[in-house]
This record gives sequence, structure tokens and C-alpha cells, in this order.
Amino acid sequence: MPEYNAPLRDMRFVLHDVFQAPSLWARLPALAQTVDADTADAILEEAAKVTGSLIAPLNRSGDEEGAQWIDGDVRTPTGFREAYATYTEGGWVGLAGNPQYGGMGMPKMLAVAFEEMLYAAGSSFALYSALSSGACLAIDAHASEELKTTYLPPMYEGRWAGSMCLTEAHAGTDLGIIRTRAEPQADGSYKVTGSKIFITGGEQDLTENIIHLVLAKLPDAPAGPKGISLLLVPKVMVNADGSLGARNAVSCGSIEHKMGIKASATCVMNFDGATGYLIGEVNKGLAAMFTMMNYERLSIGIQGIGCAEASYQSAVSYARERIQSRAATGPVNRDKVADPIIVHADVRRMLLTMKALNEGGRAFACYVGQQLDLAKYAEDASERQNAEALVALLTPVAKAFFTDTGLESCVHGQQVFGGHGYIREWGQEQLVRDVRIAQIYEGTNGIQALDLLGRKVVANGGAALRLFAGEVRDFAHAHESPFGDHLIEALERLEAVSGWLLEQAKTEPNAVGAASVEYLHLFGYVAYAYMWARMAAVAQGKQGEDEAFYGGKLATAEFFFARLLPRTLSLEASIRAGSQSLYGLAAEQF
Ligand SMILES: Cc1cc2nc3c(=O)[nH]c(=O)nc-3n(C[C@H](O)[C@H](O)[C@H](O)COP(=O)(O)OP(=O)(O)OC[C@H]3O[C@@H](n4cnc5c(N)ncnc54)[C@H](O)[C@@H]3O)c2cc1C
Repeated sequence: MPEYNAPLRDMRFVLHDVFQAPSLWARLPALAQTVDADTADAILEEAAKVTGSLIAPLNRSGDEEGAQWIDGDVRTPTGFREAYATYTEGGWVGLAGNPQYGGMGMPKMLAVAFEEMLYAAGSSFALYSALSSGACLAIDAHASEELKTTYLPPMYEGRWAGSMCLTEAHAGTDLGIIRTRAEPQADGSYKVTGSKIFITGGEQDLTENIIHLVLAKLPDAPAGPKGISLLLVPKVMVNADGSLGARNAVSCGSIEHKMGIKASATCVMNFDGATGYLIGEVNKGLAAMFTMMNYERLSIGIQGIGCAEASYQSAVSYARERIQSRAATGPVNRDKVADPIIVHADVRRMLLTMKALNEGGRAFACYVGQQLDLAKYAEDASERQNAEALVALLTPVAKAFFTDTGLESCVHGQQVFGGHGYIREWGQEQLVRDVRIAQIYEGTNGIQALDLLGRKVVANGGAALRLFAGEVRDFAHAHESPFGDHLIEALERLEAVSGWLLEQAKTEPNAVGAASVEYLHLFGYVAYAYMWARMAAVAQGKQGEDEAFYGGKLATAEFFFARLLPRTLSLEASIRAGSQSLYGLAAEQF
């Protein structure tokens, strides 16, 4: 299995050249003292070492051995415990965490690059700490001071992990119908009773304690999503001095056998009157949990990019080595019996599609990270509000488009290997299996699309979209990008389709559901066009410097605009076809 090397050159280009992150950090007081260009580069270098040499070597063996359930305990694959200990010593779980409780306070723009490396090195390993970082975020945003002081420091340190307990056997997408109960106790705590399924890292042998964030209903709660509360339930009770006490009434009933991410334990978790503590307000749990879910959504999106980058790296090296047939224009390798497959147009189509999608995605992840940083740290209230609106609009796009295109890229990578992509040896089939779940968990991509079109576009009459479109238009008018006209044309297509949908939604109840997935993809390609136009503008200004890199950027931008952006034409046609053809069959005719 080929080595994974973090794409540091491209990450630095995105961070420093395209988004000029260090100047942004310098003007945000909360970040100015924490991070500058040199610190960011040092963190990226170190992250590349940790992910490449500590985590990536466990990816294949972890997949083969899998997580194992033994009488209620979960054993992670050989090497995970030692690697996790070394990994947490580096402070990586708390990289973007609140410094007041032991986090490193690094900006999200930097953290997204680290997360990409982590998922590329091994999705299963990455998940154990991704859930912890997300749980910390929700605790930090919504829990009492006492809970924060008790739980955050050991979680940032990595001694304790976090889990997210939403799903029940009968309640996945529709969390309003969960049955887990939380009974108030005289001392202010709650007794939590119920069974959750599919809980990532619900049990494991990597950390001393696991802090479950559990959605449950109080006895007198209103029906539906407005009656859900969020409880913090530790696996092991914590004494007043922070030391560990007795086991809480939480147990792991079994783990799932599944298609991919086999080293990640997906657990049935039983809460049998377990002691829990309320986070935030009664019945406002879903809103509080959304802090964690939004974090996880971007993170899971980045799983798509990470897997696709790992797949791309091995596909490129294979395509340079593997010799089959002659180039259509005549032999390239006269001293060999055939030419390397990278000469063939179709192999180039696959590799360039991967490269254009991965690099567009990497830039867009950094852009969403920038909006998260502005929403959190900007001094000006209107700048914070604009950034919040963009985060809300773009999070479902990032989650679903990164992972849909992530699977597409991994399948191209597998295809470049021909039959050798289908067998285990080269690691391509594992990437296809591992990336597939990212389209399903954290809210299926279909649900992300409904969220985007229904709640983030139609519900506010397109206001957030106008904010984004205004920024794209300002860029196109202010900068010399070789692809500015294409960008504006694609943006106008998105705006026209959005306007048409806003009208349709007034009279046709199925208008949003029928168009949403194609709409999200249309949005995704326009967002990537914005990223590629920005990257091309920078690359064009660097002519004469590092020709291999900047020339390659411009050529990849050209491919994106010529070969991938036209996908928006067929997406528009599908959207405008409306819902009618979806309802031509009765349920029994399927
Ligand atoms: C490996 C793995 C790890 C997971 N980790 C966690 C975890 O850590 N914590 C946790 O709480 N959960 C976790 N999950 C659960 C995951 O988030 C859910 O499986 C997912 O949200 C979908 O729910 P469901 O499986 O019940 O599907 P359902 O909700 O039954 O959906 C089935 C299909 O119907 C569609 N659908 C449903 N409602 C609508 C609608 N209104 N409109 C249009 N289409 C709709 C869905 O998009 C989907 O295609 C995990 C799942 C897996 C497999």
C-alpha cells in the first residue's frame, strides 16, 4: 500500500496565498497572540509527520483486524492504543479548543487542514478524536461552568473521549420521536434510560473515560423536536476532585459489522438509569447538539476530501508506473513494450477530475473554516453575523458535496488501477468502503440537501444566498481571474434556478424535496468555481515562480471550468423538470 504524504505545498498555498490567513489572524485580537504564519507552518509540518508516520501505517491492519466486542468491552486493533497515546500527547484533540480549559485555541482554517490529513491517514482512527473535539465544542458552548471545568481539560488532553448519542433503532433522521428518558433527581442530576444505536466510539479501550452527549426527553416534554434535552453522561463517574469513581450505568451491548471504517467501533449503547447532567436548557437540547453536529458535519465532509486525496496520491503514482498500450499519438516509451497509462486521455480525465475536486474542496474547507473563525472571533458584530449566515448556508454544502465528490474520486482512483483496484493489495478498495459512510452519517446527504434548499435558501427568501452571491460577484469584478466570466455565468445560473425554486415552493409542496440533491450539487460546483477562480487569480500573478506548481494550478483550473463546471447545465435541467415525474408511479408499481 503506497505511503500517504500530506499535500503541504497545496495547503500552504490555500492558507497563505489564497486566503492570506496570517493577515486575517493578525487583525483578530483573540488569534493575534496565538498563531502566525510560522506557527501555522510548524503545526502543518508536525501534523504531516504524525499522520504520515504514526497513523497511516495502522490503516490497513486496522481494517483487517477491526474493532472487537468482548463481553461488553471493545478492543481496538493492535497498535491503536499506543498510537492514540502518542497522538494525544501532542495535544491534537484540543487543537482548536478553548485555551481557558486547556485547548490550543488554533483557528479552524488551520484545523481543517489537519483534519484532512487525519482522515487521509485513517478514517477509523480519525473518528475517535473527531467525536471528542465535537463534544468539547458543545460542552464549551452550552454547559455550566462546573461541567466545563470538570470535563474539558481531560477531554482536550485526550485522557477522556467524547461520543454523540442521538440515533435509536426507530429514530435516525427523525430525532423528534426518540424514546430515551431523563428523570430529574433531587440533587439536580438526571437518571437517563434508553438504548442508542450506531454510536461511534461509544465504547473503546483508548481512553480512561468516555463522555456521552445524549439526547433524551424529560417526563413532561412536549412531543417532537421541541421536547428534546441534552445530557452529559460519563461512562465512569467523576469525583469532586476530578478523579475517577464508580462505573455509571452505561454499557455497550454490541458493535456493528459493517462495510468500511472497520476499526471504528459502532456501538449499541444501553443507559440503565445512568446519572447524567443537563447541558443548556431543558427542551433546547437539539439546538445545543447542533453545535456538535455542525462541527461533525464539516469534519465528516473533510473525511471525503481526505480519503479522496489518499486515493489520488496512489492513483497518480500507479498511473506513472503501470505500462499498458501505446499513446494515441505514437509511442512515448520506445525502449519499453508499452507506455505508462498516464498518457491515455481517459486515465487523465479520471486523475484530473480527482485533482480538481480535491483541490477545490480543500480550498472550500478553508473558506468555511475562515467563516467559522470570523463568526467566533471578529470584533465587528455585522462581520460576525454575516459569517454566521455563511456558515449556516455552506455547512450542508460542505458535508454533502465533499463526500459525494469524495466517493466519486475514490471510485476514479480505484478505476485507474483496473482489476488491481478491486483487490486488497493497493488499498483502493478500502478507501471506497471507508469513504462511503460519510454520505450517510451525520445526517444523510439527502437530508443535507433538504436543509440547504428548504431551511437555508427558501425559508429566508434567498437572503443568505444573496450574501454569498454578492461576495462572489465582488471578487469577479475586483480581480483579474482568467475564469471570471465562467464564474459569473455559473453564479447567474444558480441565482436563476434559486429564484425559480422560490416561486415553485409557494404552490408546490414537493418542489423542494424533488430538487434538493441536484440543487446542492449545482451549488457545490458554483462554490468550487469561486474557489478555482480565486486560486487561478493567485497562480496567474505568480508567473515565473515555481512553474511546476503554479502552472499546474492554472492547467487544473482550466480542466475544472472546461470539463466539470458544465455539469451545472444538466443539473439545472433536472431541477427545472420539477416533481411531476417522481410521482408517476404508485408505491406498489415500484
Ligand atoms: C457507521 C455509522 C456510524 C454512526 N455514528 C453515529 C453516532 O456516532 N451517533 C449517532 O447518533 N448516530 C450515528 N450514526 C447514525 C446515522 O447518523 C444515521 O444512520 C443517519 O442519520 C440516518 O438515519 P437512519 O439510518 O435511521 O436512516 P433513516 O432516517 O431511516 O433514513 C432512511 C432513508 O430515508 C431518507 N429520509 C428520511 N427522512 C427523509 C425526509 N424527511 N425526506 C427525504 N428523505 C428522507 C434518508 O435520507 C435515507 O436515505 C451512525 C451510523 C453509522 C452507519
